[in-house]
Amino acid sequence: MTVANQKGGVGKTTTAVNLAAALSMHDQRVLVVDLDPQGNASTALATEHRSGMPSVYQVLVDDMPLSQIVKPVPDMPNLYCAPATLDLAGAEIELVPMVGRETRLRRALASFDAMEFDYILIDCPPSLGLLTVNAMAAAQEVLIPIQCEYYALEGLTQLLQNVELVRAHLNQTLSVSTILLTMYDGRTRLASQVAEEVRSHFGDTVLDAVIPRSVRVSEAPSYGQSVMTYDPGSSGALAYMGAAREIAYRAAALTGA
Ligand code: ADP
Ligand code: MG
Repeated sequence: MTVANQKGGVGKTTTAVNLAAALSMHDQRVLVVDLDPQGNASTALATEHRSGMPSVYQVLVDDMPLSQIVKPVPDMPNLYCAPATLDLAGAEIELVPMVGRETRLRRALASFDAMEFDYILIDCPPSLGLLTVNAMAAAQEVLIPIQCEYYALEGLTQLLQNVELVRAHLNQTLSVSTILLTMYDGRTRLASQVAEEVRSHFGDTVLDAVIPRSVRVSEAPSYGQSVMTYDPGSSGALAYMGAAREIAYRAAALTGA
């Protein structure tokens, strides 16, 4: 599942990390692939990502096996991270002349024992460049976090068009399966208006769970923790647990499990 939205600061990384942690706490084996050169997901998952060390960059550009860079997340038994370093910023350009440049990540995942995992969540950078295309080509589902603010829907048409292009040319199985409303401030009318608009547009794709704006959510990464371990009773932790339950429930309904 690819977490994408070319807007920055909408909660992609926060969602990838906390959903992954929540799913792992439901006894699912989960891998987070950090595809953002900023490496924020790696930081939040307490996974080292100094420039120069083996990371997703070597996997995409030098064909390093994914198994060589995947690290267990400290204190989270079912959670793993494939870290990103700043080197990945260069990949966006270095990939251009390469054969199969759009499908490098898919290939890496295919030759890796991906079956070992129940979920693989890919955290995208804030752009629609080759890294995001690689993420979409490798995934079955796209999860779009939408920040409950003015301009929330701006850029969404372009994002959906890109998903269509990837589906048409690279990956027939791709679909936007999930939309998650993030940073919801229940005190503002605007937030509820945006939420309503998104729901009327996208219907059942939108999860019932809504992630509230909460200081605990934004504090957790600086302790290398998910909000569920940082403050299990907080509104943010409960919301991400709820979102994970819905996603797991949908998957089970699809497979008839
Ligand atoms: P993106 O990956 O889309 O750029 P982030 O997940 O990094 O977005 O979130 C952007 C900023 O907003 C970060 O500082 C993060 O801590 C903060 N943030 C994200 N979700 C919440 C939330 N529910 N409540 C409060 N702050 C949040
Ligand atoms: Mg991010």
